[in-house]
Amino acid sequence: MLNTESETRLNTPMIPEAMLQQDLSDALAQRELRLVYQPLIRLSSGKTIGYEALLRWDHPKFGLILPTRFVEAAEASGLIVPVGAWVMHAACLEAACWDKRLIVSVNVSAVQISAPGFVDMVCAALTESGLSAARLEIEVTETALLDDEGVARDVLQTLRAMGIRIALDDFGMGHASFAYLLAFPFDKIKIDRKFICDIAWRPESRVIVEAVAGMARKLSIEVLAEGIEEVDQLVIAKLAGCELGQGLLLGEPRPAKDHYRLRPVQPPAPYRKLAVAA
Ligand code: C2E
Ligand code: MG
Ligand code: MG
Repeated sequence: MLNTESETRLNTPMIPEAMLQQDLSDALAQRELRLVYQPLIRLSSGKTIGYEALLRWDHPKFGLILPTRFVEAAEASGLIVPVGAWVMHAACLEAACWDKRLIVSVNVSAVQISAPGFVDMVCAALTESGLSAARLEIEVTETALLDDEGVARDVLQTLRAMGIRIALDDFGMGHASFAYLLAFPFDKIKIDRKFICDIAWRPESRVIVEAVAGMARKLSIEVLAEGIEEVDQLVIAKLAGCELGQGLLLGEPRPAKDHYRLRPVQPPAPYRKLAVAA
């Protein structure tokens, strides 16, 4: 059985698709899902501005399974709707007991956004946790707006009007990245790590990151560089105009209790409820 994240990334367990779907439907009830949190860092000061919630599945037979292996299956079966609702509730409950300056960023899939009741589910997560809308960020990928542009845009507009921030994840990986910036007023762009991994030695990557950061600044959109693993990448991403960064160099995804800044001093009531449930 594989236990650490790096082992799992190197050796993804081979699980038949049908078994994956069947087991995932039990995973929620069996409490096999959990969240880890990766810091989002302001590059000018090195300060943590918040954390991205990332889903993990501790499979009883196959050990740790990463979301790249099961989110697609969850989308295909529709299970992403209850799984995503659990993620939203758990992340908001967790963040409600952090320092009030910290945001929590939650990944949301296209299937969730176009499913009925998505806005109500997010409102319920905020109400139950007591987290203010301004401390919640929702990350969507470009495909989220591709599937059913009209519906997704209306849903995102409604959430944004409530004060929730909307980030465009994995920017640069799709086919219509720039068109999306016209389609929706994002608060943040997360530049995909594909452009960051070779930024230190490939001039083209640096030029692209500089251009995206320059354009985003003019549109008043914040820019985050994903996948920063080395000091050179950090320095150049910052020089290229990225205000924020995320990556193994700056902080690994870990359970909230393992992040020094996130240890609750005085857990509020909703947190105690979460702790009892876990
Ligand atoms: P993402 O939203 O782009 O999340 C960043 C991914 O990059 C995470 O992988 C994180 O562990 C990984 N990462 C962070 N820093 C580095 C680095 O320096 N180098 C490298 N090589 N990787 C780094 P993870 O946790 O495996 O998640 C993969 C994707 O699965 C996420 O990409 C997101 O699209 C999706 N995902 C994760 N949690 C959820 C969730 O709750 N709901 C939905 N719908 N999707 C999720
Ligand atoms: Mg993300
Ligand atoms: Mg990303």
